[in-house]
Amino acid sequence: MLSALRGTSTEILQRYAQSPPTVSLNLASLLSFGRPATSSSVLSSVAIALEEIPRRLAMRVHSLQSLPFIVGTNPYIANTLNAYRDSFQLLATYPPVKTLEDNKRFTLQLEALVQRHANDIPTMAKGFLESAKYMSPTQISNFLDGAIQNRISVRLIAEQHIAVSRALEEASTGEIGVVDTNLRVERMIRMCESYVAELCSATLGASPSVVIDGEVDATFAYVPVHLEYMLTEILKNSFRATVEHHKKALPPVRITLAPDMARIFSYAFTTAKSNDDEDAGGGPYAAQHVGGLANIGGDDPHLFSEITSKGLQTGLGSIAGLGYGLPMSKLYAKYFGGSLELVSLEGWGSDVFLKLRCLSDEAGSSVI
Ligand code: ADP
Ligand code: MG
Repeated sequence: MLSALRGTSTEILQRYAQSPPTVSLNLASLLSFGRPATSSSVLSSVAIALEEIPRRLAMRVHSLQSLPFIVGTNPYIANTLNAYRDSFQLLATYPPVKTLEDNKRFTLQLEALVQRHANDIPTMAKGFLESAKYMSPTQISNFLDGAIQNRISVRLIAEQHIAVSRALEEASTGEIGVVDTNLRVERMIRMCESYVAELCSATLGASPSVVIDGEVDATFAYVPVHLEYMLTEILKNSFRATVEHHKKALPPVRITLAPDMARIFSYAFTTAKSNDDEDAGGGPYAAQHVGGLANIGGDDPHLFSEITSKGLQTGLGSIAGLGYGLPMSKLYAKYFGGSLELVSLEGWGSDVFLKLRCLSDEAGSSVI
């Protein structure tokens, strides 16, 4: 790390880019720092964060720099690249964290860094909308898949370190960190429902109810913010489709919880069709029809603010608009080996099947 202090930004970037991860970080090792959180586990955790986060940021900088020149000149893309470069520089040249006091300062900086990147995806979305004629939808999709996966990893590492550091400070015991081993699915659905209902009523003037059936008491081990993201996106879609199709006498959105023996569960949602054809060419990230990028430049304090952001308040942009909800939810589901599928019957409704792998011990080998 000391030698890194001496290089220029470009030299340091090259060094990181030339040394791809030798050991892949897995979920079990990330979680182990919180079991329990001790002074030494916090210092091991910070070492991992300082090693692994800049490595991933360097990969991001590299792939943003590899975009076609003209796309790179788009202000949204250029700003995103600069933000990644700055964050990389900050972490790659960060002095060694040797004490808990050092860590306290570092953790504050890491939290600020996570906040600064809260709107990266909507910002890049805007950049790609404006650059649509210079890249094919497949090229854009591939780029975004990589960017989003990379981002999920960075957030997991950063948030796990923040959680473990906080746990030590507050002398918390029990399970610590990004995975909730006893996540109550129904409670999470109700929480997302109340947010989406408010958004939907404000935007479209009405909102359907949600009926939950199947294994309503199901709990499982998962990353709550990931589940929250996916449920919010799926509910926004089904609420919108229901209101737009039925206008009055709205049928409920039905969610069926089905944990199977392998502790995998799926949801089935029944909603109405929307007027839009979801298969209308152009790949999952193709430019969408409804303009709604209200959150750009927004300042949402929610650690995981994304397109679900409560900062999205104007027009349909809040409940729909970017066309990123489903593809991003799919990436979240797939990140730990799950899946997301949508079966739509025009005029009759859509079923969304969200299968998530329970993050119990055997999932610990998942590479972050
Ligand atoms: P957005 O909601 O921003 O348009 P999404 O990726 O969430 O982006 O969804 C893409 C499109 O898929 C929607 O605009 C809609 O046309 C279609 N869609 C998604 N979910 C449903 C659903 N439950 N019923 C009908 N159409 C849907
Ligand atoms: Mg949506």
